[in-house]
Amino acid sequence: MGWFINKDDCCGCEACVQACPKKCIEMVEDKGGFLYPQKAYDVCTDCGICEKVCPIKNNSIERHQPLKTFICRVNSATIIEKCSSGGSFYELASITIKEGGVVFGVKFDTNWEACYSYAEEIEELAVFLGSKYIAPKIGQAYKDAASYLEEGRKVLFSGLPCHVAGLKRYLHKDYYNLLTVELMCTAVPSPKVWSKYLGEVAPKGATSVTFRSKSFGWNRYGLKIMNDNDELVHEPNDENIYMQGFLQGLTVRKNCGNCLYKGFNTRGDIMIGDYWELEKYYPEINDNKGMSLVLAFTEKGCRAFDAIKLDLFVKEIPFSQVDTAVEHSCLNHSIQLHRNRECFFSKINSKRSTITRILKKCLYKQTSEPKSIKGILAIIMKSLLKDNYHRCRYLWKGK
Ligand SMILES: Cc1cc2nc3c(=O)[nH]c(=O)nc-3n(C[C@H](O)[C@H](O)[C@H](O)COP(=O)(O)OP(=O)(O)OC[C@H]3O[C@@H](n4cnc5c(N)ncnc54)[C@H](O)[C@@H]3O)c2cc1C
Ligand code: SF4
Ligand code: SF4
Ligand code: SF4
Repeated sequence: MGWFINKDDCCGCEACVQACPKKCIEMVEDKGGFLYPQKAYDVCTDCGICEKVCPIKNNSIERHQPLKTFICRVNSATIIEKCSSGGSFYELASITIKEGGVVFGVKFDTNWEACYSYAEEIEELAVFLGSKYIAPKIGQAYKDAASYLEEGRKVLFSGLPCHVAGLKRYLHKDYYNLLTVELMCTAVPSPKVWSKYLGEVAPKGATSVTFRSKSFGWNRYGLKIMNDNDELVHEPNDENIYMQGFLQGLTVRKNCGNCLYKGFNTRGDIMIGDYWELEKYYPEINDNKGMSLVLAFTEKGCRAFDAIKLDLFVKEIPFSQVDTAVEHSCLNHSIQLHRNRECFFSKINSKRSTITRILKKCLYKQTSEPKSIKGILAIIMKSLLKDNYHRCRYLWKGK
């Protein structure tokens, strides 16, 4: 039996790995550092479960209109400092834990790689705060969530839309005690590119990493990497090469260029993101510290948001303000992969250059495709001269 989806379409959700009763699928890193499932065909019994749980193979496009659209922000200055936008995730997570529930999110592991994990205490939520711009490992997250759901405990599962879709396929049925919170999502960068970059800028290791430092203001968020008191990197996203590689679609997973979960084809109860139009519509409340945009797609999502409303600054806004806004183009359109993406990934394992240099070169160099007749002639001339140079060199040196 062949593999059931094209590698380029796989979002790496690991639903197939977790569902396989024979445990004969494992995630294997490709040259670009992204994880893809690989099957041991000799152990496989051809039961078809992996195919049934795959959210890409079984995707049906359904446009969902949010029932309610809000902007909001937590009151705590400490939380707002640590989270990416307005801290909506923290409030939803805190109430879940107060009610005896479990919260799933993405944290850094000991190597500063991103992975899904869960928390049962409010103090444990801190590790989830803030976006980690790295493709996360899913591990056992769906299995663990399923066993808590079966025990009857409330579960809040927050993650990228394709991973929430993977969880839903894995679970097979609706659980009254599950709340899913999706992040608005542009794309995910390669973990290998991140670890190479971190190795270069922090050769002696790092003690803290923040992708969304608000020191330059929320709207010009930056990457900050510290080793104890040494500031190793502290640059706004428009000046940082790692962030530019991500935002310009150079270092990202291939299927993000054709994401099936755009256009509100959502599986979640709630979707959260940054409300970038604050200055445009509500300048009087813009202090450049962050504002969350919250879309509640289900009755369950509306109820969950109602429960935290009193602890937040909240304003209901019309959905039309969000739907067509360029600031939220990630809701309707996939990221355009950088023209040099393939070339970049063919170079990242080179021992002769650093990842920073490769990033710079590939981000800013033009494609080799000539744009005009003049360009074509220039390339022909160059190659003739180059051929002659090698011929002359051969004749002259005898090699
Ligand atoms: C890769 C990525 C791309 C994003 N792209 C956009 C975008 O284009 N537009 C937009 O409006 N918002 C985007 N977001 C969401 C946005 O950055 C905030 O995460 C969101 O607004 C929630 O902010 P918050 O202040 O409520 O909570 P925060 O405390 O900032 O968010 C924490 C939540 O993010 C989760 N998280 C962190 N890193 C990851 C990860 N790598 N994978 C999965 N979950 C993760 C945590 O589990 C937690 O649930 C993106 C987030 C990520 C991780
Ligand atoms: S067909 Fe069944 S046994 Fe084979 S890999 Fe898929 S889930 Fe596992
Ligand atoms: S289930 Fe997820 S990891 Fe497995 S093939 Fe489908 S998209 Fe890829
Ligand atoms: S852009 Fe789409 S495919 Fe890529 S990580 Fe986000 S939700 Fe998944």
